[in-house]
Amino acid sequence: MDLLQRPADLVPATPGRLSMRALWRQGRVVERAWLLGGWLATIAACVWLGLMTVRQEWSGIPVDLGGASAFLTFYPPIPLCLWWTLSFGWRWGAVPAWLATFVLAVDAGMPPAWAAVFACANPLGLGVLALGYRAVGVPRGLRSVRAWLFFVPLCFVAAVLSSAGALIWNFSQGLPAARQLPIWQGWWLGAFVQSVLLGGPLMALTWPRLSRWIQRRPGLFAPPPSGRRAMGLGLLLAIVLAVQGYGLISLGLGSLQLRAALDSRAWSQLEEASRVMLGTAWVFFWVFTLIVLFVAQFGYQALSRWVRSTEALVAQLARVNAELEQRSRTDGLTGLANRIATEEGLRALLRTVRRYRTPSALLMLDIDHFKLVNDRHGHAAGDAVIRALAEVLKSSSRDVDLPGRFGGEEFVIGLAHTDLGGARRFAERLRERIAATTVTPQARAGEGVSLSITVSIGVTLLREDDAGIEDALRRADAAMYRAKQNGRNRVEVDSGAVPGAQAPSSAGKP
Ligand code: GH3
Ligand code: MG
Ligand code: MG
Repeated sequence: MDLLQRPADLVPATPGRLSMRALWRQGRVVERAWLLGGWLATIAACVWLGLMTVRQEWSGIPVDLGGASAFLTFYPPIPLCLWWTLSFGWRWGAVPAWLATFVLAVDAGMPPAWAAVFACANPLGLGVLALGYRAVGVPRGLRSVRAWLFFVPLCFVAAVLSSAGALIWNFSQGLPAARQLPIWQGWWLGAFVQSVLLGGPLMALTWPRLSRWIQRRPGLFAPPPSGRRAMGLGLLLAIVLAVQGYGLISLGLGSLQLRAALDSRAWSQLEEASRVMLGTAWVFFWVFTLIVLFVAQFGYQALSRWVRSTEALVAQLARVNAELEQRSRTDGLTGLANRIATEEGLRALLRTVRRYRTPSALLMLDIDHFKLVNDRHGHAAGDAVIRALAEVLKSSSRDVDLPGRFGGEEFVIGLAHTDLGGARRFAERLRERIAATTVTPQARAGEGVSLSITVSIGVTLLREDDAGIEDALRRADAAMYRAKQNGRNRVEVDSGAVPGAQAPSSAGKP
């Protein structure tokens, strides 16, 4: 059943991944050259820039944040990999990110096995970014406040999770407490600041062209995965983990440094440690502000999307129900009421007969020798005849009448406020109109045929003392059977059951 479709606006644009295989097989030469060439160039650039970060000592640079000092690591692969991740999917950003970190770690003397684990830190952060966009479906173009309100806190969560790498670095390098906080804070703060100040604008600048291209080339993208709920849950878990981890580590490392200074009772160290702790405390405040904002807006967005989609679904269900109801009461071939709806209408008619004691009539008609039509001209021609007959019934009935298709080529009509005489006259006129109608079904094998048919009609009244419409239907059927017996193409009235039926009193159809 194709009635119930998910409206497109219920499914926000969820990023699908650019498929390497599809790009290779279906991509144009220019596309392959730009994307694969650009990607390989990005990998090379990331590896080189990663090495530069270590050799030029771009890590843990102290910066002054309005009186509070903080540390920042400049690591240019981050915004580049972020761009690839948001534009084309996680793998496209994760591979250069992993390779760059792996190479710099090995270059710095870390054992390769450690380096391989260490290098997963940034891909982890990028994974959270990709997950966030898949779960929530906020536009990636960063051209609205809403888009930035989502992007910035998500970058924080990604940055904090990726800074797990700093802990591995500190541990593997055996750094003293005083040097651990700068490395860790530099890592996450650097990743965060660069994602927001470099990665964000890069996305905003390139997105208009990029999104147009993505829309033109849907075949190159793997469909977005389903399971938004699981993704939303994953995202929430990542947020909780990041915030808790962040709080624990920043306070833990800060106090480690402070305690070491207190123990050594060296004034200069104590002053330095206090300054770091002060800075850490303020950064901590801003981070929590950011996260509270994020969770609030994430929750609001999820809620409003849920409400919107529920409302849309309810409206759609109502529409589909109405349509189903209509379909379930309509005969597919003729558009007339089907048997169920016809019987319902007749029951209502019988109720008014009982209540107001006004006569109403019932006609039953059957096409004469219809089998011959099917046999000679085919089933399709038979269908065309049935449709044509239905049109005559519709155009001959008043809007208070109830024409319906009762069975294959049997029809009934309930005539409200019509006595037996009126019903008989109506039936005669109907019989004549049908006999005068010619049907030209779609010619079979090039031959044009004109068909005409006749019907036999049985007429009866709905009676107050009928136990149900079945009684009236039985009488109409018996009358119709007599019409067949008496030569077809005729009207027979169920005269025996109704006294005075031979003397019709008033006109049925005006
Ligand atoms: P009679 O004058 O005694 O009514 O003869 P008849 O040939 O019409 O006999 P009957 O009413 O028993 O035949 C009904 C035939 O109508 C049988 C069936 O193949 C055909 N029929 C029933 N429904 C349809 C339909 O939807 N389309 C077509 N093409 N034929 C139908
Ligand atoms: Mg029949
Ligand atoms: Mg028949």
